[in-house]
Amino acid sequence: MVRRLVVILGDQLDAQAEVLRQSDPTLDQVWMAEVREESTHVPSAVTRTVLFLSAMRHFAIDLQNLGWSIDYQRLEDTSPDQGLAASLALALRAHQPEEVWVTAPGEWRVLQLLRDTVRAAGLSLQVHDDAHFFTTVRDFSRHAQGRKQLRMEFWYRELRQRFGVLMDGDQPEGGRWNYDADNRASFGKAGPGPLPTLPRFEPDAITVEVMETVARCLPDLPGTCTEFNWPVTRNDALRALEDFVSHRLALFGQFEDAMWLGQPCLYHSQLSAALNLKLLNPREVVAAVEQAYRAGQAPLAAAEGYIRQVLGWREYVRGVYWTRMPEYADLNALKADQPLPAMFWTGDTPMACIREVVGQTLRLGYAHHIQRLMVTGLYALLLGVRPQEVHAWYLGVYVDAIEWVELPNTLGMSQYGDGGIMASKPYVASGKYIDRMSNYCKGCAFKPDVSVGEQACPITTLYWDFLIRHEALLTRNPRMGMQIRNAQRLSPEQRRHIQTQAQAHRDALNSSGSK
Ligand SMILES: Cc1cc2nc3c(=O)[nH]c(=O)nc-3n(C[C@H](O)[C@H](O)[C@H](O)COP(=O)(O)OP(=O)(O)OC[C@H]3O[C@@H](n4cnc5c(N)ncnc54)[C@H](O)[C@@H]3O)c2cc1C
Ligand code: SF4
Repeated sequence: MVRRLVVILGDQLDAQAEVLRQSDPTLDQVWMAEVREESTHVPSAVTRTVLFLSAMRHFAIDLQNLGWSIDYQRLEDTSPDQGLAASLALALRAHQPEEVWVTAPGEWRVLQLLRDTVRAAGLSLQVHDDAHFFTTVRDFSRHAQGRKQLRMEFWYRELRQRFGVLMDGDQPEGGRWNYDADNRASFGKAGPGPLPTLPRFEPDAITVEVMETVARCLPDLPGTCTEFNWPVTRNDALRALEDFVSHRLALFGQFEDAMWLGQPCLYHSQLSAALNLKLLNPREVVAAVEQAYRAGQAPLAAAEGYIRQVLGWREYVRGVYWTRMPEYADLNALKADQPLPAMFWTGDTPMACIREVVGQTLRLGYAHHIQRLMVTGLYALLLGVRPQEVHAWYLGVYVDAIEWVELPNTLGMSQYGDGGIMASKPYVASGKYIDRMSNYCKGCAFKPDVSVGEQACPITTLYWDFLIRHEALLTRNPRMGMQIRNAQRLSPEQRRHIQTQAQAHRDALNSSGSK
């Protein structure tokens, strides 16, 4: 019998967590479990599953070295249908703890499941704040109270002031809060030129063993992991942070929206998985970026652009998730009703942009923000795919996907399913945007500026079709004014042709099947 069972979930890999600092290895027991259900309730790609399990196994060894006794349930040692609740119930019976502690989980479903299971055992669950955010959900609720409309920008400015990040007294460093306008460059015809070499995180014996286990126990997961290159320990994660700040941060801002064939990372940090598994703390990431700016190693626009993502967006989406769940997950403001096309699981399509981003995603578990928002997300939004199906795909395929961050980004920002809670307007554009920001269209069977006929770019056709279909709703949104006026200039005949072509595209997808 132990005093306390400390539950550590797969995205809570921090030896300094309050639940551990306030517990005692001589009295308390750590419990960790690998369960198949967490990789199958939405099909989780191989790379994502391997990353989580390998990072968990490395972390358990670190804890053992610190003197903790750990009850660690391995994937291969449990029956396929034993989920998290059943596993925890067994652990509670085996250890008979007086109490159960956990850090706030990253998913509403998991929080309910833990509460129910612990209650059923006649115990109560103590849920501790997660120190891997600058703010608490209570802070966000206070900020949101009484506001008719939430906007990330106001929340972000409040946090810059509160935490003294990139401030010059009570004014923003450089006199401006926002450098987005400086941060929208593409590479032009010449392309990005030589790019910094990315750090290597070769799979070690533990990761290789996990790969074999996953192949054996979960043979049907999508994607591959032959190019696995993710930090699985805190030391690896610190090396990834140092490498980004030294070699890519300076050009991060300028090229944060740009895309290029065969170059998934460009100047992005690829730190989201390490942040979300809690191998890194956002405070140390923000501090390292600000320090690089102050040392003259990165321009202000790059440092601000990066800090806005971590201090602004990351904290904001978490607040939206926890203050709106569980209803948020069912929203569908645009009444989208199409199935997710099969190409999202294969990349098999003549559309070069989708082929590139889906292919890269299934190989690496990674795509940067504009690839997610303005390629795959845009296509699903324009097609009218049910936001819940789009959400399940994003939750399964990305190494950094945990519901608190994935759901508001997908259902809200990318699919406008929440009707404007996350974003003030739907992020819609024609194929010409993709052409401007990448070289994808050069190798494509379609032409980005053509909306009807054999060479029509499906994104462009569907863009006009989207504006026509949602004209009544979007007319009320002042930020959509110009796009709607352009659609209203189309002649009745042009409209008819566009809508016929858009429907033919949907019909062709539906007859070729969805997963
Ligand atoms: C449809 C869609 C789904 C997404 N799903 C996820 C997800 O499951 N997990 C996830 O961490 N991010 C998600 N994002 C946000 C963003 O795309 C990723 O954080 C980013 O691409 C990760 O790559 P990076 O570390 O190289 O980021 P960088 O471009 O280097 O950005 C720096 C960091 O800022 C944070 N960040 C940037 N944008 C956001 C954002 N919109 N919301 C929250 N944090 C942000 C991340 O921690 C990221 O590591 C999603 C975005 C979209 C449009
Ligand atoms: S032409 Fe259209 S479908 Fe082809 S790559 Fe460009 S945007 Fe994508």
